[in-house]
Amino acid sequence: MSGSSWDVERIRKDFPILHEEVHGKPLVYLDNAATSQKPNVVIEALVDYYAKQNSNVHRGLHQLSERATEAYEEARVRIQRFLNAAHSREIIFVRGATEGINLVAQTYGRRAVRAGDEVVITALEHHSNIVPWQMLCEEKHGTLRVAPINDAGEVDFEAYEALLGERTRLVAIAHVSNALGTILPVHRMSETAHRRDIPVLVDGAQAAPHLCVDVQALDCDFYTFSGHKTYGPTGIGVLYGKTELLEQMPPFHGGGDMIKSVSFEKTIYNDLPYKFEAGTPHVAGAIGLGAALGYLEDLGLDRIAAYEHELLVYATDRLSSLPGVRLIGTARDKAAVLSFVVEGVHAHDVGTILDLEGVAVRAGHHCAMPVMTRFDIAATTRASLALYNTREEIDLLTRGLGKVREVFR
Ligand code: PMP
Repeated sequence: MSGSSWDVERIRKDFPILHEEVHGKPLVYLDNAATSQKPNVVIEALVDYYAKQNSNVHRGLHQLSERATEAYEEARVRIQRFLNAAHSREIIFVRGATEGINLVAQTYGRRAVRAGDEVVITALEHHSNIVPWQMLCEEKHGTLRVAPINDAGEVDFEAYEALLGERTRLVAIAHVSNALGTILPVHRMSETAHRRDIPVLVDGAQAAPHLCVDVQALDCDFYTFSGHKTYGPTGIGVLYGKTELLEQMPPFHGGGDMIKSVSFEKTIYNDLPYKFEAGTPHVAGAIGLGAALGYLEDLGLDRIAAYEHELLVYATDRLSSLPGVRLIGTARDKAAVLSFVVEGVHAHDVGTILDLEGVAVRAGHHCAMPVMTRFDIAATTRASLALYNTREEIDLLTRGLGKVREVFR
């Protein structure tokens, strides 16, 4: 897509924080993989909810409670549409991708995995998609198997396929790597697992804000993402699951709302999706997330992906031309994440110098320590782009890296 049909200056006006200054310089926010900024429609949805609708959901008979319930359930339907899920009952509100993955590990996983069984992940996963499976395997005396990645940061497909066997109970893979930007061939990986009747969970934390996600086309069994990386509020996220799997799974948390009836002898659990939503949910968060997804849909996910790809190509070109800068993660199919090392300079120093220039990036292991080990490095500096970033901002990043070189010459 040509940059000219993407009115980035108009879009930037929707995000008040982008007009802040840091260290007396205009903010250049390139830490979108950690969390993205919020457009006015999301901020207004939160204010409006607390000012006009605040009430507990699914409980009161009074007008406000009905309004809040309606808005909360409307948000669920919006998310269903956003993911192209078959039913709104397949959309469960959770706190974020981390909770979505833990929910599946602790409910589906604890039922499915027995001693000697295996869970397959890849070498580029975020800690959120490693540790819950390690905890499960430890408890059940199962084994975690890890599909390797090549030097570009792409999953070795043959090795992945070879790991799938009689004892594999679940495959859990990222859609997009937060540390490398790699877009995984989720549909192909899913199809390969399904041929062996193995269900697939997709960690979509880094995909939902940037790609058009269609859970039916991907044919995954579970898909999870976080609101705060998708231009929505913190503390809210989504777990999608296929009805037949969710029906079979035991609840995750016990409490109010997830029951139909309770006696000391027996509790009857509620229907989907409420069986998995114990206690008062983050009503405002769900409504804010609905507003965020509406904003993305209005812009068009395809157009967002095309614009961000343009930025990625530009930024890759600029960074590659800098002496001493080495990109980590050069997959053919990549989202707009640029992880790099600067020869002779620790990533934290790079991050600090850039911060003084107003450029916000991430430095560290990005909650993907095994990825750092794979590339034999301690840390990277990561610039992760979003729909509101500009070429000028990438130029400021490049200029900031010039300052890093001057300081460490
Ligand atoms: N998976 C990936 C790929 C991520 O990038 C992140 C957040 N960095 C998570 C999972 C966890 O998301 P959250 O902290 O919002 O639960």
